[in-house]
Amino acid sequence: MTRNQIREIRSHLIQGLHSINGQLDSGSTVLENCPDDTDFAAQLAQHGLNVAMQRRHVTRIRELEAALKRLSHSDYGICEECGEEIGVARLKANPSARLCVACQSAEEDGLSRRCA
Ligand SMILES: [Zn+2]
Repeated sequence: MTRNQIREIRSHLIQGLHSINGQLDSGSTVLENCPDDTDFAAQLAQHGLNVAMQRRHVTRIRELEAALKRLSHSDYGICEECGEEIGVARLKANPSARLCVACQSAEEDGLSRRCA
């Protein structure tokens, strides 16, 4: 991977972090103490959805941060399974990818077979 590609992916990761942080701020809700039970139930349901979404966002932030850290190591962008380059297009779409497309789909095949 070239220096330019690394820089490109790094700014892509940072952009991703910024957009998630923005969503986290706007997504937080405060439960209001409202007298109507139906309204309160609806609020509570919405609050639960927001909490679930924030958890997903936090997971995504951790992935992006881990990818940023790995980016400074020479093994970033190298498939952990076969040692081939993962490919810049794939890394941009999924910066936290640890496997190349072939190994990823092989692993998913294995998982679905195990489940069946
Ligand atoms: Zn691979």
